[in-house]
Amino acid sequence: MATTASQIRALTAAAFRTPEKFTEFCRNGGKPLGGVIDGEQVAGSMNATFQTIDPGSLEALATICEMGEAEVARAVSAAERAFHGGGGKGWRNTDVEERIRLVNRLVELCDRDKAVLLACEIRDGGKVSELAEGDFTQIRECAEYFSGVARRIPMGDSSSMRVADGVRGFTYREPWGVVAGIIPWNYPIVLTSWFMFPALLSGNTILIKPAEDTPLSALYIAKLAEEAGFPPGVINVLPGRGEITGQCIAEHPGIRFISFTGSPGVGQAIFRTCDRHGTRMKREMGGNGSAIVLGDANPEVVARMVGRYTNQHYGQTCCTIHRVFVDRKIADDFIDAQRAFFDGLKIGYQADAGTQLGAVINPTQRRRILQAQQETVARGGQALLAGGEASVAGKDGFYLKPALYRTEPNNNCNPLEVFHTYATICPVSSPEEALQLANSSPYGLGASVWTKDIERGIAIAKQFRDGTGQVNCHNSIAYGLPYGGQGISGGPGGGVNCEETFLDYTQVKAVYVADYPA
Ligand code: NAD
Repeated sequence: MATTASQIRALTAAAFRTPEKFTEFCRNGGKPLGGVIDGEQVAGSMNATFQTIDPGSLEALATICEMGEAEVARAVSAAERAFHGGGGKGWRNTDVEERIRLVNRLVELCDRDKAVLLACEIRDGGKVSELAEGDFTQIRECAEYFSGVARRIPMGDSSSMRVADGVRGFTYREPWGVVAGIIPWNYPIVLTSWFMFPALLSGNTILIKPAEDTPLSALYIAKLAEEAGFPPGVINVLPGRGEITGQCIAEHPGIRFISFTGSPGVGQAIFRTCDRHGTRMKREMGGNGSAIVLGDANPEVVARMVGRYTNQHYGQTCCTIHRVFVDRKIADDFIDAQRAFFDGLKIGYQADAGTQLGAVINPTQRRRILQAQQETVARGGQALLAGGEASVAGKDGFYLKPALYRTEPNNNCNPLEVFHTYATICPVSSPEEALQLANSSPYGLGASVWTKDIERGIAIAKQFRDGTGQVNCHNSIAYGLPYGGQGISGGPGGGVNCEETFLDYTQVKAVYVADYPA
């Protein structure tokens, strides 16, 4: 049955009540929450702490200890011991079925404490429940997918080949050893899962560096991992600022591989640091997603679909649609419908029923978004909805109104990633013109084309200079298909969520064996 325009709505909050178990976890018996190293809570030798807040109410949820150079060194040593096994088998030699058993147990405990993890996403991350619930399902889906991959992909020796008379050769695949995941604030549970499961299941021991704005879910997962029976040192969590904890991780030569998700500038800087001491890296970074709307599309329906994806997590999603190129013939109707959709979004506190547009994550983001709104107009964008600050009765959060602009093909007024419910709409005369404009960005994460003509849509989707091309959908992910970026949005590496991801967490050596000289 065809979707009607009125059925398409933004992701919406149900009322959320914070569970006592979450509050207790945050309270931590009156002490700041430490990092988790070698199975122990660690206060941190710098004596530095920071607060993590609810962005919609500014309530301080927990005080967290920041991990410095000494803690990173301690975590690397613990993870190395756990990898090799101090007298025992070590994680590297633990049978894959035993790794899967522990991962499954962790997933079961996450299911048991779903309300706590939802509180992490909703209260600490500022999400509406409809999105947080979807994110939560990723824990199980990701674990199950990579368990299957771990069973399929052979580690160790390949079959050997004859190289010359008396000489044979084969490859040897093994985990890197100690690997680190540096995670951004916008999808903490999802991105921790996307890093943690393939890294662990391929035999690595791990350091997780959560973002300073959303450290709670990774710390809670570490607590559950201990309960699940993971050996100490296999999973370590190091909260702290990027320029302190993150930088110390990037500088530590004992970390063999880093998986970074975050902004291109930070990813480029970490890459340079890692390259100095030979740590390998994969990077999943920001985007400035585009949508092309062909002339055969229903402008009301597609404008609402595009609006829904633009507003996913209030535009704080890496592949969000921020640039729309629409056939001139339907542009006015499309613009009216998208303006009406944005205008109708219910701004509110993320844990209150009905909210569709909550607070942005922190004051720096708010300042950046307001500045970007001004710059869009200064560059010649015509404001259809001017954005600006919003207020929510009884809440002091970082609230902003949606922003929408009309522009023309010769005016690129939207060159940067603006992490909010923000979009520019540009009428175009042909799909070719739209494609050329969509591909003119240095970012290349996700793009979509909207049309009733599926074959034509597929042909256009293949021409996007993006890691993900989509027809009549956006923000798509599926296990088994790579999710990665082109241009400054990603690489090197095979993207996430596919078999190549698992291989990224392993290294391959060639081994040659000649007969002993007679
Ligand atoms: P960010 O780059 O500021 O921070 C990401 C992580 O890097 C955080 O943990 C931070 O503490 C750490 N960090 C910061 N400076 C560091 C340094 N000098 N050394 C080491 N670590 C450092 O990004 P953010 O603001 O947290 O997240 C938003 C960005 O992430 C956006 O650009 C978004 O598009 C991108 N993102 C991409 C994907 C993807 O899959 N491609 C997914 C989610 C978010």
